[in-house]
Amino acid sequence: MTDLPFLPYGRQTIDDSDIEAVVGVLRSDYLTTGPMIPAFEEALAERVGAKHAVVVSNGTAALHATAFAAKIGPGDEVLVPAITFVASANCVRYEGGEPVFVDVDPQTGLIDLAHAETLVTPKTKAIIPVHLNGAPVDLTACRAFADRHNLVLIEDAAHALGATFGGEPIGNGRYGDMAILSFHPVKHITTGEGGAILTEDDELAVRLRRFRDHGIERRAEHFTEPDAGPWHYEQIELGYNLRLSAIQCVLGINQLRRLGDFVGKRQALAARYDALLAEVPGVSPVRTAAMDSGHDTSAYHLYAVQIDFAEFGRTRSEVMAALRAASIGTQVHYIPVPAQPYYKARGHKMADFPGAQRYFDGALSLPLYPTLALTDVDRVVTALKNALAQPAAVDQRAS
Ligand SMILES: *Cc1c(COP(=O)(O)O)cnc(C)c1O
Repeated sequence: MTDLPFLPYGRQTIDDSDIEAVVGVLRSDYLTTGPMIPAFEEALAERVGAKHAVVVSNGTAALHATAFAAKIGPGDEVLVPAITFVASANCVRYEGGEPVFVDVDPQTGLIDLAHAETLVTPKTKAIIPVHLNGAPVDLTACRAFADRHNLVLIEDAAHALGATFGGEPIGNGRYGDMAILSFHPVKHITTGEGGAILTEDDELAVRLRRFRDHGIERRAEHFTEPDAGPWHYEQIELGYNLRLSAIQCVLGINQLRRLGDFVGKRQALAARYDALLAEVPGVSPVRTAAMDSGHDTSAYHLYAVQIDFAEFGRTRSEVMAALRAASIGTQVHYIPVPAQPYYKARGHKMADFPGAQRYFDGALSLPLYPTLALTDVDRVVTALKNALAQPAAVDQRAS
């Protein structure tokens, strides 16, 4: 064991200004609803260059709201990559539709549109590509695919706040009909729990806001019946209470001011990892060709590597345990969703997703968060090399 401080794979960055902002709201008139909610929405929309931002209680609720706004229902199919967090698929089930899993590129973990092409049916209504690890999917290709098949394009951008595609911010609505964000503590900015949907589309924005508020309309221009007086509101559809509190929104506003700094630190740390790992055969940083060419920048939600564990003669569990003994936290993102018992029971099987299987087998996320130091990266890479080195395997190769 070691006395070195523990490095988790990800963590929030909270400073005194965040604490003061939250205390300020606690002393104010509104703990929920009130002026902080539109203020956070306007700040978010402005930051990514989207027309509308709708904040909700978490990223999963944001995905649920997109499935509602896209009118997904029983009998509908939605294309979802096999490698993502379960919420990207579950949102389709919440509204009674079926996720249809799409294989991923074994190197990048990003959705394989050639495979998606073979899965489109007359029932297909939407596609939810995921900007895995913060690396943008090819949105030009996704938009063309969605147009060709008349699908709603929903970007799961939970990993990608601060990333750019073709020089423009992810979430600005140039390609996707809607994009969702999460403000969970390991994500780029946090509100404890929180999420948002970004869209350019006025009608989708109306439906998203309604869904967050029980299906209720309070704006006279959307009433279906005569406005009976100042107390009047109408529940038009079935929604939920998915509100984000004022306490959370003020934290979000304060965090958002530092987004550029947070993402810059993540990118600098990732560059250090890339440089050090270039000298470690068998360990490949997960990067896209569009990142290498400079077309895209990753927001680096995670620093993911692909490791050929068999080549090292070590299992992933052994390597993770050795790193943990060196006070270093790692994680696997993600167990393929079709391999989850819930989805297996619905008939999905991993034999259909060889790319996802390969990506999953090699995946490991190393510590990455804005307060990590460059010297911590050196420590992680040294510990990883030690964890992978195994005398037995070396002997085998020498003989
Ligand atoms: C974090 C995350 C979500 C869900 O966000 P929560 O705020 O945790 O509900 C959805 N999709 C992806 C890819 C995520 O990483």
